[in-house]
Amino acid sequence: MDQDVAAKEQPRYIKLNERDNVAIVVNDFGLPAGSRFACGLTLRAFVPQGHKTALVDIAEGAPIIRYGEVIGHALAPILAGEWVDEARIRMPEAPALDKLEISTAVPAPLPPLEGFTFEGFRNTDGSVGTKNILGISSSVQCVKGTMEYAVKRIRAELLPKYPNVDDVVPLTHAYGCGVAINAPDAVVPIRTLQNIAQNPNFGGEILVISLGCEKLAPERLVPEGVSDAIVRMQDEAFDGFGAIVDAIMTQAEARLKILNKRTRETCPAADLVIGLQCGGSDAFSGVTANPALGFAADLLVRAGATVMFSEVTEVRDAIQLLTRRAINEDVGRALVREMAWYDSYLARGGADRSANTTPGNKKGGLANIVEKSLGSIVKSGSSAITGVLAPGERATQKGMLFAATPASDFICGTLQLASGMTLQVFTTGRGTPYGLAAAPVIKVATRTELARRWKDLIDFDAGGIATGEKTIEETGWDLFRLILDVASGRTKPWSDRWGIHNDLTLFNPAPVT
Ligand code: CA
Repeated sequence: MDQDVAAKEQPRYIKLNERDNVAIVVNDFGLPAGSRFACGLTLRAFVPQGHKTALVDIAEGAPIIRYGEVIGHALAPILAGEWVDEARIRMPEAPALDKLEISTAVPAPLPPLEGFTFEGFRNTDGSVGTKNILGISSSVQCVKGTMEYAVKRIRAELLPKYPNVDDVVPLTHAYGCGVAINAPDAVVPIRTLQNIAQNPNFGGEILVISLGCEKLAPERLVPEGVSDAIVRMQDEAFDGFGAIVDAIMTQAEARLKILNKRTRETCPAADLVIGLQCGGSDAFSGVTANPALGFAADLLVRAGATVMFSEVTEVRDAIQLLTRRAINEDVGRALVREMAWYDSYLARGGADRSANTTPGNKKGGLANIVEKSLGSIVKSGSSAITGVLAPGERATQKGMLFAATPASDFICGTLQLASGMTLQVFTTGRGTPYGLAAAPVIKVATRTELARRWKDLIDFDAGGIATGEKTIEETGWDLFRLILDVASGRTKPWSDRWGIHNDLTLFNPAPVT
């Protein structure tokens, strides 16, 4: 035991690729000047945990290399053992989109993985949910308060009668009126609302609460062939608020009766639709949690599941590594199309990709978006990229998909729900209480110190990879098994145990009026 503690207190760094000329300090709370590593390198300054030190002298203008890739150039000479913080690095240009290699390094199909199952709720359209929820849609923000009032009563008065139903969730949002509904980019929020209502966790039961005079006609949120799915508050048949709430409750109860007949059944892991995301990243994200998640993602792909990674601004600077993995020319072009769309979206707003990194990312040791991206795309694993979804499009393919979304945690979560995601795995270095009401979220810590401190918010600790206690493979397998347990309802993630969930947040790139 004592030996173990002493061993951990040895100054340690992680170098990821033999080309790297910087490495990150592993020890909790960082290391003081004078700390001497086993290789003989001595720190010339304090280096916080997760931050980089130079392994060799780096000349002014020379490349700074991590993950075997250039993350920037030295603004002034850097000596071995110095702290390489973001102020010392000039960020390189993003890779040009017209010069990318497409499908030049398509990974061979991974060996199939048989025999892994989970207990899910099978729907008539063949999709499978991980929860059994009544989701109530809304066509405009005006009805939000009414919906929340009604849902409070549904939870208290109706839900206890239908024990197979997990929850009632109001799908409220800020869209629906005061917006340029016919602008070309309005397709994004509208498609998102249409597809969220059909998320497999809602069992195909559609109910839309409408005001009546809004721009987004509620009929647009009801799939073809579904009738009697709209309650309009301005309907002249309603005499007062009480009558409106009664109508919502009557419609809700009719659906609860149907949903209550759903029970979990054994389904192949191929029926899973898993979303991957990171938030509050640090320099360990790309060393521990994301590589473990990438390994788990490969297992899911091998089992035949659908897996999606997202966050355009976090893949943009590593796009040259992804287009090579595109399974064919069409998928590669679609990746480029989504990057180009986002470049112009940012340019319209007078921003660029450097707007992505947060003060917390930098405090966690990420110098810039290039370094963050290289650590982020690791979670996509090593399989071919088999499809690309525009924001809010529904996934129809198996394998590793790129679902284009902003990196904003809640917007990414909302868009992945629209794409049909039934469980999300979320890696975090800084820590976040993030959760979604519509699908379970497994939160994975990049560092053991965070997992210990947030023992009742973090579901999985990937930090053992940094301390050498566990391998990426072992951690990836453990995470894969946890995904099957959570999808089966056997294990509840902390955000569901506390009932803490973020709002649905639509991505509306179109003008408001
Ligand atoms: Ca994010």
